[in-house]
Amino acid sequence: MNVSKITLSILYLFLSCTPVNAQFSFGSYALQHVNIIDVNTNKILFDYTIVINKDKIADIIPSNKYIVNDTVQSIVLKGKFVVPGLIDAHVHFATDPTEERRDHAEKVLKEMLLTGITSVRDMAGDARALSGLSRNALIGDIVAPNIYYSSLMAGSKFFSDPRTIATARGGLSGKMPYMKAVDSISNMQIEVAQAKGTGASGIKMYANLSNREVVKIVEEAKRQNIPVWSHASLQLAKPSEILASGVISVSHANMLIYENDKYQDLINSWGNHQPGGEEKEFWDKEFEKSDFSGLYNLMIKNNVVLDATITVLTLQKNFPKKAWVYEIGKRIIQGAHKAGVLIDAGSDSDQETFVQHEMKLLVSDCGFSPFEAILAATKYSAQSTGILATEGTIEVGKKANLLFLNSNPVENINHIDDIFMVIKNGMFYNKK
Ligand SMILES: [Zn+2]
Repeated sequence: MNVSKITLSILYLFLSCTPVNAQFSFGSYALQHVNIIDVNTNKILFDYTIVINKDKIADIIPSNKYIVNDTVQSIVLKGKFVVPGLIDAHVHFATDPTEERRDHAEKVLKEMLLTGITSVRDMAGDARALSGLSRNALIGDIVAPNIYYSSLMAGSKFFSDPRTIATARGGLSGKMPYMKAVDSISNMQIEVAQAKGTGASGIKMYANLSNREVVKIVEEAKRQNIPVWSHASLQLAKPSEILASGVISVSHANMLIYENDKYQDLINSWGNHQPGGEEKEFWDKEFEKSDFSGLYNLMIKNNVVLDATITVLTLQKNFPKKAWVYEIGKRIIQGAHKAGVLIDAGSDSDQETFVQHEMKLLVSDCGFSPFEAILAATKYSAQSTGILATEGTIEVGKKANLLFLNSNPVENINHIDDIFMVIKNGMFYNKK
């Protein structure tokens, strides 16, 4: 046998003999006879070969056109399906980063990577902790997805929130470069420069900001070339104002309700109604009272991705008076999806469940096909984060971030858990 060929059985042997956090990479190798879930053409490309060189995808060709050569090691993966590495567009790993939290974060991040999540977007936390985790993940010091994190801006009112005090430990809440109180007289040039200096990949607008402040932040961020992510409502600035400002994603579908000036009356009247079941008709009728098509159109026109977070909306069902968050939020997601809004997959679930759960909920509750749920957790999560140029699809020149499955996830979204192996930045990982 040609020594440059590593057969599937040897790969199995290698993977099964190595410890849980096993990782290895070859340099150049060809993954032969795989079925590619192509999120660009929305088709399955059967029996293709993906050539990987170091950390990037070097070639993608039909297997019958691939010529085996001695400089590229071959791995036969007949019958396997491959999707782009999954991206969770909404996590929180350093809200209160004590020693214990770092241990916990590392443990969860490892589990995430081994289930096929190759990147995450952290949507507010202590950047001093996140930058360390991010660096360790990037160079392979810890087994973890690539970590992209935010620098948060909000009105001063928000900074009495206990989470912001925990995140600013050792400093002053509202005065940290990664978590700042801003207002209309803030020097945005300096505020944005400091936010960028934390190593953040985006600015997250969180709460208590007016439209005037939103416009100033986004304009300056554009000038300094850092994307802006936002909550879908900022109490003062309305969803439509945020969507017109130049942000690239908005989080939490339920927050679009705040476009309607009558929302407070509506929410009060919804307080005593239970989720779903016998009340389905009630929620259907209430949803009809607001027209969200203008907001959907704004998202489409301005290329804003909706970071819907159905997982965390589902959790609200357990709280009294909060059924509406799920019932109205779910209907907004369904409507946005039907209208053609791009929706990513962000779990925001504090590591209780991963993005695969979000994908399954998009299918079971929000009218997505399994293929559409895969698109959400790959291409659109990458677009939402601002990393589509390097991740989120299986394309020549992009990072070799790939999830190999034993069964077809397009037939059944539960197959997303039928993991064979994961490749992140060209490194192989396998749970067994
Ligand atoms: Zn969040």
